[in-house]
Amino acid sequence: MEKVVIIGTGPAGLTAAVYAARANLDPLVIEGFQPGGQLTTTSEIENYPGFPDGVDGTELMTLTRKQAERFGTRFKAGEVTEACLDCRPLTLMLSDGEKIEAQTIIIATGASAQYLGIESEQKLIGRGVSGCATCDGAFYRDVPVAVLGGGDTAMEDALFLTHFASKVTVIHRRDQFRASQIMADRVVAHPKIEVLWDTVVEEVLDVEKNEVTGLKVRNVKTEVLSELAITGLFVAIGHKPNTGPFAGQLDTDHTGYLITNNTRTNIDGVFAAGDVQDSIYRQAITAAGTGCAASIEAERYLEGME
Ligand code: NDP
Repeated sequence: MEKVVIIGTGPAGLTAAVYAARANLDPLVIEGFQPGGQLTTTSEIENYPGFPDGVDGTELMTLTRKQAERFGTRFKAGEVTEACLDCRPLTLMLSDGEKIEAQTIIIATGASAQYLGIESEQKLIGRGVSGCATCDGAFYRDVPVAVLGGGDTAMEDALFLTHFASKVTVIHRRDQFRASQIMADRVVAHPKIEVLWDTVVEEVLDVEKNEVTGLKVRNVKTEVLSELAITGLFVAIGHKPNTGPFAGQLDTDHTGYLITNNTRTNIDGVFAAGDVQDSIYRQAITAAGTGCAASIEAERYLEGME
């Protein structure tokens, strides 16, 4: 039986692994469907302490993984498909059919990009609609694209896309960005970026052609409908916590984020760290911080069991 199983390899999971390994808890980390987590789909991280010139997201996660490995962390590829958190020992089923039993579990499964959910958008995902500018931006050289959203992700995506696209239109449903001022200022000042305020996407064109040729948009103040010619739509409207295998077993808030008290969930021996339990800060550094806290909590819990 494992002492500590950590699910997820973003900053929360890997930091938990560094701490658990250094505490001689011999942690096992389940890598998940996106090894390295969301930071591997972002470009430069400028606000992670210790990197005055910024650091590439994938590089940061590769370094943190090496640090965890140095102290003996074991990694296993695959996803958790089912969990029994009422069982003792705690039990996880993996995508390859393996069953893992553990005294403690740290859930650090993060959050995933959200989409609008309208039919035309769903049909064109992967055919001009993307949830990841860093992954797909380079496919859109010298063509016009749009970014939907007004948060930091939308700002970062829009700025990143200016390296490739002929023009970037940011579409935001309000007349003010949610993003940090510095990012918003960069977007507004950029000569290749135009902002459509108070605007929502009604339809992605053209499902018939099976490729994105434009958008039908509506100004929410004037109710005027218009069309925007673009070949790529990057949706950056937030994220959803990845709690699927634990559904119905752990307390969540009304948006689905796990409720924690100093990283402890409502089930003894089950801890959560990072974006899966944080709808407020959602930063790499806060995720790493809660990963550390969850590991210390797990260690204390195990000591209490002895
Ligand atoms: P946010 O939740 O911050 O922003 C989501 C944006 O999408 C909001 O502007 C929201 O509009 C808009 N939106 C949500 N739903 C819809 C919808 N159905 N239709 C149209 N628009 C919609 O998510 P982010 O992913 O941008 O950021 C998440 C966190 O990560 C934040 O804390 C952010 O600061 C952080 N982050 C930091 C970065 C950095 O520092 N380098 C980079 C990227 C993210 P409205 O404003 O009206 O609610």
